[in-house]
Amino acid sequence: MEKDCVFCQIIRGEKAADFLYQDESLVVFKDIHPHAPIHLLIVPRRHIRSINDLTEQDRDVISEMILRAGEMAREHSIAESGYKLLFNVERGGGQVIPHLHLHLVGGWG
Ligand code: AMP
Ligand code: ZN
Repeated sequence: MEKDCVFCQIIRGEKAADFLYQDESLVVFKDIHPHAPIHLLIVPRRHIRSINDLTEQDRDVISEMILRAGEMAREHSIAESGYKLLFNVERGGGQVIPHLHLHLVGGWG
């Protein structure tokens, strides 16, 4: 847990978020500035900076994130119409929050 990390603060309950799912290894909440009708963030509880920082010990959480994304898409009835999954990596890749997260965006129709 990082004191100044916005996503760690959300996970600790110090900052509000619109949670849609939580378990022991990850949380899902709505993006505060949605880029699409449905824009969710799938976030590991453990503070991992970016895809660059993944290690063997993160193998399970990464697969859980992707499986959860598919499940959230089904729950929001966008699995068949389609959606995008996106990891921004570091500044040049558009990553603003340095806590690993998977964007699920869709719902355009
Ligand atoms: P990225 O550019 O990949 O780091 O994405 C960070 C995302 O987090 C952006 O889409 C922001 O809109 C979103 N975001 C930032 N602060 C919050 C917050 N407090 N609650 C929910 N989403 C947030
Ligand atoms: Zn963090």
